[in-house]
Amino acid sequence: MAKNLPVVPTAKAGSLAEVPAGITWRIQQPVILETCNMCLDCTLFCPDGALVQQNSKIVLKLNLCKGCGICANECKENAIQMIPEYSGVQGVFR
Ligand code: SF4
Repeated sequence: MAKNLPVVPTAKAGSLAEVPAGITWRIQQPVILETCNMCLDCTLFCPDGALVQQNSKIVLKLNLCKGCGICANECKENAIQMIPEYSGVQGVFR
């Protein structure tokens, strides 16, 4: 017997991360290294569609990236490195 499931809102990949408030808590961001073999796994695993293929390169869209690190974790070639979002003087907000 089929259940009557509720209608739920849907969103395009990345559309939820476009809200600026969602980006303010990013503390690290991915860097694509030269060893990238363009397997495109990162583009599949990124929950926000922040990694896209453009002209035989992987391009990071920082306005969508929330810094979760899933892309770096799933990269089999270790071609994605997470770097700190802020590299200035530490402790300035204490
Ligand atoms: S850190 Fe997260 S949101 Fe940013 S590109 Fe990687 S998987 Fe996508």
